[in-house]
Amino acid sequence: MNRDFLSIVGELNLAKRVLVVGHIMPDGDDISSVLSATIGLQKLGKEAIAGIDWKIPWYFYEFEETSLIKRYEEVKESGFSPDFVLILDASSPDRIGKFQEFLGNVPSAVIDHHGTNTFFGTFNWVDTKFGSTAQMVLRLNGELGVQYDERLATINLMGIATDTGFFRYTNADEIVFSDATKLVSMGGKPYLISRLFENKRIEQFKLLSTMIEHLRTENDGKIVYSYLSKNDYEKNNCTEDDSGGFVGELRSIQGIELAIFFSEYERGEIHVSFRSRDWFDCSKLAVLLGGGGHPRAAGCTLRGELSVIIEEVIREAKIMYSSQYSSVKS
Ligand code: AMP
Ligand code: MN
Ligand code: MN
Repeated sequence: MNRDFLSIVGELNLAKRVLVVGHIMPDGDDISSVLSATIGLQKLGKEAIAGIDWKIPWYFYEFEETSLIKRYEEVKESGFSPDFVLILDASSPDRIGKFQEFLGNVPSAVIDHHGTNTFFGTFNWVDTKFGSTAQMVLRLNGELGVQYDERLATINLMGIATDTGFFRYTNADEIVFSDATKLVSMGGKPYLISRLFENKRIEQFKLLSTMIEHLRTENDGKIVYSYLSKNDYEKNNCTEDDSGGFVGELRSIQGIELAIFFSEYERGEIHVSFRSRDWFDCSKLAVLLGGGGHPRAAGCTLRGELSVIIEEVIREAKIMYSSQYSSVKS
């Protein structure tokens, strides 16, 4: 058993007031992990508060428990004074936004599955063998003796499902399936999770069509990229939340290896998502640009004029594509 895992269990057994923190621009794994840990700790009679320093995309409110998650300002105003901070699915301190302020005052634990993790907690249980952080929370809750019901099992399963692209990506391995089986046997309902994706607004289809109009290729069609500007979102009556999954559409194009999607979520602030199919290590490119992630899915956030950023990132991507190609294919 991992030593940090056991230390975290020991600390949480003693803790009374726990702040459970997720990352900015939260995804399904993050929301699932934060909610599963918070609900688990509450079931054990502890005061636990869930915090994410970002607006939660509207479709996650399909799960009513999502409204447990508080913004930084709400946590501050409530006067909550944690005696332990539990950080989930975040690879570096900047990923938790303003909640960084709580670090240093009280002991903290980082539970994460990113190879790019910087071990910024007092305790760090980081293991890239897991397809999702939600699986690590399942183990944590198990060791703490949390009793699962249908709701908790479904919410916990949601993170495994979303981070593996509903069991389609290369990280969907035997551990993923056995953890999913365990959660389904405890009452988890996959069909409730699929509603997250089968619930699209008509405006999102129009936004997708704008992204497709902007599609470009490089390196004989091996690199594909597209973008949405702040204006594109506004024109389609959408926000950046509405393009969740668009980069997956780019990756699904036949013959490509690397897909890149630029999303200008605030004027001059651009989130870049990288996805690859077989061999390109996206996390190396993301780290070079100040971000992080996994080999097949990574991202970074850059500031500046959208067209300039696109040009710079594509230039770096092409250089790294060639150098990785020669080492992988030699
Ligand atoms: P995304 O493209 O935003 O869906 O992110 C893909 C993966 O990269 C996820 O595992 C994220 O946690 C990670 N990631 C995205 N943006 C960043 C960033 N700015 N810094 C570190 N990791 C990131
Ligand atoms: Mn995440
Ligand atoms: Mn994750």
